[in-house]
Amino acid sequence: KIPGGRPAIRPLDEAAVNRIAAGEVIERPAAAVKELVENALDADARRIEVAQAEGGKTLIRVTDDGHGIPAEDLPQAVARHATSKIDGSDLLNIASYGFRGEALASIGAVARLSIASRAAGAEAAEIAVEGGRVGQVRPAALRRGTVVELRDLFHATPARLKFLRSDRAEAQAIGDVVRRLAMAEPFVSLTLTDVSGGGEKVSFRADAETGDLFDALAGRLTRVLGAEFVRNALRVEAEREGLRLTGYAGLPTYSRGAAVAQHFFVNGRPVKDRMLLGALRAAYMDVLPAGRHPAAALYIDCPAELVDVNVHPAKSEVRFRDPGTARGLVVSALRHALAEAGHRAATTVAG
Ligand code: ADP
Ligand code: MG
Repeated sequence: KIPGGRPAIRPLDEAAVNRIAAGEVIERPAAAVKELVENALDADARRIEVAQAEGGKTLIRVTDDGHGIPAEDLPQAVARHATSKIDGSDLLNIASYGFRGEALASIGAVARLSIASRAAGAEAAEIAVEGGRVGQVRPAALRRGTVVELRDLFHATPARLKFLRSDRAEAQAIGDVVRRLAMAEPFVSLTLTDVSGGGEKVSFRADAETGDLFDALAGRLTRVLGAEFVRNALRVEAEREGLRLTGYAGLPTYSRGAAVAQHFFVNGRPVKDRMLLGALRAAYMDVLPAGRHPAAALYIDCPAELVDVNVHPAKSEVRFRDPGTARGLVVSALRHALAEAGHRAATTVAG
């Protein structure tokens, strides 16, 4: 305390800063899985394996065949606000999943973290972080890619551990994350294994034969959302002012009693965006009775500068430079597809 009884203003030490950031970025095991799989995707991995034990509370391991991290970069990889993905000069032009350089530092602050990696033409190496303390870089045995393993998430913050749900519920949340990313990346093979639950495994294999987006999407969506969805969905393809929309939208006859199974991806990123969900609702308004909701998996792609992804730490919200264009694109493309399929709304016929 300084004279007068007022506490002095002091910077927090780095470990505390990382723990606070971890509270935002890694609030549960599924969030760690999301960050690690996104890192693998950013490293151009074609095969990604996720293993978890006890809902991810005791173990999460993500193995990829991506471009790896050179030994000398490993300490930087776990440092806060250090990233290889952007140089900070243009936050409105982000093409990767990651860019905040925060995930690994945050995970290292709240779990026992180890990373083994091998970059092309380099020796494999590993680094461990425990309680925010970064260990020495050591040689490792690894043929290619990266293995990130975290154990005992929140072991040092029992209060947070108490907020986690049952192993089953946390495993379910991890499954949701993996399924969403599997939908986002139909050309990447993904597996998820519960190593504590008798090795139960889900796998999404990418068909090496197909280079066609709609074929790959149909295969992936069949696996994730079910064959019924794809059989009862319309192919959607449209473009407007630099925004491209592709995907599948369910027939009105395949509607649901709740607004589940509505998936949007913006530049490959799974998003929960109220404006886009509203556009979907508007498109079906005249062809669905009240209380029924369409199913859809829709992908919007555009130049990175037309959409701001730096809105939220979890990066699940986006902001289009011109939201009206995005909304108009979704509404008109879906109405058009529905009309073609004979689901012409009364109002459209009259008008
Ligand atoms: P960000 O993804 O925002 O850059 P992270 O903390 O998630 O921040 O990762 C820090 C850095 O570590 C990344 O920028 C990347 O260079 C490297 N990295 C992390 N995971 C992988 C991986 N699986 N393969 C290759 N490089 C990785
Ligand atoms: Mg990342």
